Amino acid sequence: MGDFDDLLAANRDYAARFDLAGFDGIAHAGVAIVTCMDSRLDPLNMVGLKAGDAKIFRNPGGRVTSPALEALVLGVHLLGVQRILIIPHTRCAMNLHTEQQLREKVGESAGVDATWQAFGVIDDPIAALEDDVHRVQSHPLIPDTVVVGGFMYDVDTGLLDQKL
Ligand SMILES: [Zn+2]
Repeated sequence: MGDFDDLLAANRDYAARFDLAGFDGIAHAGVAIVTCMDSRLDPLNMVGLKAGDAKIFRNPGGRVTSPALEALVLGVHLLGVQRILIIPHTRCAMNLHTEQQLREKVGESAGVDATWQAFGVIDDPIAALEDDVHRVQSHPLIPDTVVVGGFMYDVDTGLLDQKL
């Protein structure tokens, strides 16, 4: 107890001006975004959206993993998603290290063996993005009417560069 007091205090302030009650959970802009967990990224604001507008799925690297596909299928069929943006970014830790380096760093931090842990490092960001866009486009439950784009977000300028 107490470890989250600062955040809970902020939450009470948030609730005091909360205006999303009764909201339906549909993606009102028809948008879903798959992007990295990196704290430099603000996925809604970077494309001019706000709470209620989009489905956001984040993981290390912004990869289209099986859980990401589950989220996208649900988004497309049940939650109004018509456009999907896949957004990895420059200077991503998943691209700056090898699998071996990440295992060593985590092992040092944890003080126990981490050589068994997979991290899914990205060797070639553009090739990975091509694979990920293709995984979405070729999914049997995502119709061709859904538009899929692959972008690279520049953490130094805030700009999105469409690659696919
Ligand atoms: Zn990242």
